[in-house]
Amino acid sequence: MPLADALGRPLSSLRVSVTDRCNIRCRYCMPEDDYVWLPRGSILTFEEIDRLVGIFSGLGLKKVRLTGGEPLLRQELDHLISLLGRRPGIEDVALTTNGVLLARSAKRLRAAGLRRVTISLDTLRPDRFTAFTRSARHADVLAGIHAALHLGFTSVKLNSVVIRGFNDDEIVDLLEFGRSQGAEVRFIEYMDVGGATRWSPDAVVSRREILATFERRYGEIRPLAEAPRSSAPAERFALPDGTTFGIIASTTEPFCRTCDRGRLTADGMWLLCLYAESGVDLREMLRSGATDQAIAAHITGVWRGRTDRGAEVRLKAPERGALYQIGSLRADPHREMHTRGG
Ligand code: SAM
Repeated sequence: MPLADALGRPLSSLRVSVTDRCNIRCRYCMPEDDYVWLPRGSILTFEEIDRLVGIFSGLGLKKVRLTGGEPLLRQELDHLISLLGRRPGIEDVALTTNGVLLARSAKRLRAAGLRRVTISLDTLRPDRFTAFTRSARHADVLAGIHAALHLGFTSVKLNSVVIRGFNDDEIVDLLEFGRSQGAEVRFIEYMDVGGATRWSPDAVVSRREILATFERRYGEIRPLAEAPRSSAPAERFALPDGTTFGIIASTTEPFCRTCDRGRLTADGMWLLCLYAESGVDLREMLRSGATDQAIAAHITGVWRGRTDRGAEVRLKAPERGALYQIGSLRADPHREMHTRGG
């Protein structure tokens, strides 16, 4: 019997944050001037990550996504990709990156066996990018996208978080850009996760509004049927000419009931939900000499008890504002989105 949680959801996907550091400062994720970083000695080695993935794969894990922070800040990430690619049960290793360092590393990542990459691209305007991320490296992001598209990755996707007053006037342009490049764009509703200390409901552009904008521009939008029992966070649609795009409506129409995702922070904290208050310290087990069997038994027990439906609970919050204020993020940086990995 495959391992299932208390609501019958399997443990099939793991987002592994390889670093909490990032080289840009998106206002919806890292708006502060300074941060409390995870201690360097606590960061899992690639061998520790690989060992944990092996244990999880024995319990049904099939998909791993490397994220961060900015995962390409971690030296020799291609080594981790080749280690994970050798794990027999792991069918898919993917990467989410801001693209700034991608042009120079894409070839090595591809050679190591990476086939799928998602690049964050919220704006096509360099001046907006600079204002929003406190980085002038928009051209490097575009070069990263270009490199990925020309190196034979089987999937290159673009992630755009849509924020009212920032880039909601660009969603058609972003879709057109994706179409011209051959990269599917996924529009993400702005989430009130840790780190988004300036979040407010007014700034959220809902799935419904995004679809209405596209309908006005292109005509009828057709929803695409997902594979049965799909746990993919993006709902996919097609324009009349067949161009496809996705929407991740985690804020207004959450999809907790199909969520098969766990998250591993760079220091080995295993989180059962993006909104979880706290996690399970697997580094402590790894470094205190626990056997694979003991770690697997612990993971099994925890997953069986999982009832988390964080995004749905947030939806019912009576006066919804930012999830955490800066003080509680500083008290426990594991609550930050850049630590738990998006
Ligand atoms: N640095 C990488 C990147 O930029 O893609 C990986 C980490 S980042 C935390 C992963 C994804 O989370 C990005 O696509 C980012 O846009 C998204 N994200 C971060 N904060 C968010 C928020 N408040 N609402 C929605 N998406 C968010």
